[in-house]
Amino acid sequence: MKKSTPTIASERNYVIEKEKFVPVSEYYGEDTFNNKVMKEKLPKDTYKKLMEAINEDKVLDIATADIVAHAMKEWALEKGATHFAHWFQPMTGITAEKHDAFADPSGIGEVVERFSGKQLVQGEPDASSFPSGGIRATFEARGYTAWDMSSPAFIRRNGISTTLCIPTAFISYTGEALDKKTPLLRSNRAVNISSLNMLKLLGSKNVKKVYATLGPEQEYFLIDLDYFFKRPDLVLGGRTIVGAPPAKGQELEDQYFGSIKERISSYMHDMEEELFKLGVPAKTRHNEVAPSQFELAPVFEEANLAVDHNQIVMDTMQSVAKKHNLACLLHEKPFAKINGSGKHVNWSLSDSNGNNLLNPGNTPHENIIFLVFLVAAVRAVYKNADILRASVATYGNDHRLGANEAPPAIISVFLGEQLTNILTNIEKGIVTKATNAEIIDLGISSLPIVSKDNTDRNRTSPFAFTGNKFEFRAVGSSQSISFPAAVLNTIVAESIDYLAEKIKTKDTKNINQAVFEVLKSEIKDIKPILFNGDNYTKEWETEAGKRGLPNYKTTPVALKAMVTDRALNLFEKYQVLSKVELQSRYVIYLEKYIKDLEIEVKCLNNICQSQVIPAAASYQKILATAIIATKEVLGNAGVVSAQTEILKKVVDLINNIYNLNKEILTKVEAANAVHDEAKKADTLCSKVKPKMDQLREYVDELENLVDDEFWPLPKFWEMLFIC
Ligand code: ADP
Ligand code: MG
Repeated sequence: MKKSTPTIASERNYVIEKEKFVPVSEYYGEDTFNNKVMKEKLPKDTYKKLMEAINEDKVLDIATADIVAHAMKEWALEKGATHFAHWFQPMTGITAEKHDAFADPSGIGEVVERFSGKQLVQGEPDASSFPSGGIRATFEARGYTAWDMSSPAFIRRNGISTTLCIPTAFISYTGEALDKKTPLLRSNRAVNISSLNMLKLLGSKNVKKVYATLGPEQEYFLIDLDYFFKRPDLVLGGRTIVGAPPAKGQELEDQYFGSIKERISSYMHDMEEELFKLGVPAKTRHNEVAPSQFELAPVFEEANLAVDHNQIVMDTMQSVAKKHNLACLLHEKPFAKINGSGKHVNWSLSDSNGNNLLNPGNTPHENIIFLVFLVAAVRAVYKNADILRASVATYGNDHRLGANEAPPAIISVFLGEQLTNILTNIEKGIVTKATNAEIIDLGISSLPIVSKDNTDRNRTSPFAFTGNKFEFRAVGSSQSISFPAAVLNTIVAESIDYLAEKIKTKDTKNINQAVFEVLKSEIKDIKPILFNGDNYTKEWETEAGKRGLPNYKTTPVALKAMVTDRALNLFEKYQVLSKVELQSRYVIYLEKYIKDLEIEVKCLNNICQSQVIPAAASYQKILATAIIATKEVLGNAGVVSAQTEILKKVVDLINNIYNLNKEILTKVEAANAVHDEAKKADTLCSKVKPKMDQLREYVDELENLVDDEFWPLPKFWEMLFIC
């Protein structure tokens, strides 16, 4: 597209001049009402009560809440805030907020800034327009937001407006979770209880709490904002639904870890500065595999905080991009034929003394703990691979999982050679007649500190053990990591309990021996989930089928795992989601799939009718005119076979596009006549989606034929390489 190619980077005024360099340590977290601020601003006994409430899951009395609210307001006013907002995470997968002014009429023509404990603790957004999957119709129309004390309030600056944001959970008046945070908090509780019981059984002392830790590596694309605005598909659906692959893609492998362009570096700097102010521990940044693709990895944090921070990261990436005349694309597959984006969610469990339970330790005791929790996690994934798969099933992620890109839709676990050998030895009972010391010598204490470099070489695995944590790589780049994390916590809690019950049937006076016997039989059972090879190959697909591992390639199929009896019972048992809550989530995810697909259909229709066909017709006219004119001038010598052939192709493609487009719309209409959401999603997925792909091929062929001057959409090479 030539007409309005943006000026090259160096001509743009995007460089933000720094007046002086300020070390991050001087402003890190300055826009959060964090522990340090609370300690400073709150009376001693209030601070103590608040900490107790946070750490011991206690309810905060309203008098204390009033004092906290007052301090929070004073602090926010100093920061320039005019409003406060309960910040929550409805089922849309993004965040929501409703702003209330601090200013409150105090007399005629006068206001004072007010913020009460009640306003801090509970809010009532008019929330009837959020997806609820039928819950609200069945129960109660209103929902309320409740302050999540474990995630610090923060200041959100947007242009010249400044708002105090209070992280909250969003619940119906009858107590059903209407958001993504509530089940995560409940799953944290579940995994805490199960892990504490297990640790007690294993003889650990002085552990008060166990919590999940998360480190989500966020991938994203950046393109020039001018291009973005010229692509209705990007603006409306987040990905290009047409577009021919460029002559150069990622085959030269020159992007991954390559030197970062100046414009991008400036962006990253600016974006990270915002994150640092909000206390988000952004740690690493690099170029990813595809052109114009990048990654940010934070330092891991307690799960709830990590989820909130990941939402802030996604928001900040997008808002700061605009200031740099860039568009940040978080979609799982913004561009066909090159890598898409995911979120590698690193997950582990930590105890209140800061010990990572998945860290192979130096002492026999630590090693027992490590092995038990490792096997519990592997078992959890084996028994619930379908639920885990469902937790990452979205329309966008279908372009990665089960399509031509990693990781595959088959969930398997990579442990690496060393650990696999250790488990195999245990299974073979190499240390059968063991005393404690022998178990330790032969099987367990000989466990070397598993070095990361040994374990992390397999990038194709969807669920890989990487030294001292698992890396769940199937999560989509744009999705909230909350539900996948809640699923992980819940299924692992269940497996920990299962192992604990088994261990208790043995002679627990000799706990190491008891553990050993249980692990021996369990490893045999869960082995089919272990796979260290290349997950991309056809052979693996066949082999996984033989092992009975599920391979759900599309969202409508994958989501069904959420509503099996097993899933419903499991989530209810652990009080993470009631049956009604889980069923409603299934409906919400299905509806989201349907809507995402239908938006693309409409967008595709629009692009074809109002942009592609008119462009092709203009070119068609030029060709036809040229052919006639040439013949007129040169007579028989003027037969222009090349142009005639091109003209013929252009005409054929226009016909194909027009007809297929009509066919798609008819099919969508037929699907819409069905009132069963699951069937509708199935039909759209199996009958409409393939036609959209075919239509795209026609359009892309046309793109390569039509005069570049006429092509209305920015092309891949422009979007991906001009920056
Ligand atoms: P690699 O991907 O090479 O293993 P890192 O070890 O630096 O790289 O970790 C990648 C991500 O995993 C980071 O976001 C990091 O914070 C996170 N991570 C490290 N340890 C843990 C842990 N115990 N729990 C959760 N996430 C972790
Ligand atoms: Mg990575």
